[in-house]
Amino acid sequence: MQLEPPGPEPVGLGRFGEFGGRYAPETLVPALVQLEQEFRSAWSDEAFRAEYAALLSSYAGRPTPVTECHRLSGQLGLRILLKREDLTHTGSHKINNVLGQALLTRRMGKMRVIAETGAGQHGVATATAAALFGLGCVVYMGAVDVERQALNVWRMKLLGAEVVPVESGSATLKDAVNEAMRAWVASVESTHYCLGSAMGPHPFPWMVREFQRVVGDEAYRQCREILGDADPDVVVACVGGGSNAIGTFAGFVDTNARLVGVEAGGQGLESGHHGAAVMRGVPGIVHGMRSLFLQDEFGQVLEASSISAGLDYPGVGPEHAMLAATGRAEYHAATDQEALAGFQLLAATEGIVPALEPAHAIAWVAREAGHAIPAGSTVLITLSGRGDKDAAQVAEMLGGLE
Ligand SMILES: *Cc1c(COP(=O)(O)O)cnc(C)c1O
Repeated sequence: MQLEPPGPEPVGLGRFGEFGGRYAPETLVPALVQLEQEFRSAWSDEAFRAEYAALLSSYAGRPTPVTECHRLSGQLGLRILLKREDLTHTGSHKINNVLGQALLTRRMGKMRVIAETGAGQHGVATATAAALFGLGCVVYMGAVDVERQALNVWRMKLLGAEVVPVESGSATLKDAVNEAMRAWVASVESTHYCLGSAMGPHPFPWMVREFQRVVGDEAYRQCREILGDADPDVVVACVGGGSNAIGTFAGFVDTNARLVGVEAGGQGLESGHHGAAVMRGVPGIVHGMRSLFLQDEFGQVLEASSISAGLDYPGVGPEHAMLAATGRAEYHAATDQEALAGFQLLAATEGIVPALEPAHAIAWVAREAGHAIPAGSTVLITLSGRGDKDAAQVAEMLGGLE
């Protein structure tokens, strides 16, 4: 398979409008500068790009198809297409990012990666890439999450990674990010920090978008083929940190398609228990970037809350904050209940069980068909991952296995 040319580099020190930047301790700046320079040179190096493309195809299973959903389309009065990241090796778009960063780790002559993880999805992806490349791997995970996600902890260990429980703060994802950054400071010479979404200090938001833009670039071409040189009217993706959405949007930002990010509405935006950092966040500087974060009146970062672990982050990548500010993309939310319904809807109409994260995107489209989405519209939804990982949890919530 062949990659499309690189996308635009952010201006200055990773600026996306008033968002982004590089807010890092002095001790990390040399590593971030090295990473920025190495990524820039690698990304314009045909040999690196060819090796990345070959891995995406032979190991990750790309290109992934775009599937037209005839029964769901009929039911909703729309024309619905799915970009099938659920069909990749390990079952989500996260593989695109970790393979790129693992290649870069080797190019920098480093032999070890560290990563943060919430529920364990990015930890498992990083451990997968580390096993493939023979890199040492340490994953920082909130102690609460280690308890909750025993199976993923086991998987990471199976793949050869060490899992370090983080006890500080609320012992969840945001604390794991802090700890991973601290650990990186102490080991930058030998170690690359494999960050899991299009967030953090420059160059991560740019680099992760570039490693995920294969999703949008492929989908753009596939839609043109299916739709006869036309683009979808609406392009929809779920937003946690924002990597599958920004990779999808990258392929369509120069078209007239409406770009829609769907955030975790949790128990409802009014309840305060949600993960809608674009809709309800305020600007702040956290985890090395200026972006939008859920914060209390003292500027302390709040816990996010969502039925889906992958959307359970209280901030969002800076490019989304910019796309929201300029109005080029819109951001909406679907609640836990709506996502559960979306999960069931796609399974029953198309025989495809989505992960709970993209079930939010399905749910928003189902809710807004004939309302915010005019009847007859063509809608591309990125199915960022498959639902196997969520089946037991959903079965329990729907009243048990029977
Ligand atoms: C991790 C994950 C997400 C959320 O991460 P983004 O960086 O926002 O893409 C979404 N879907 C799936 C399946 C995931 O595993």
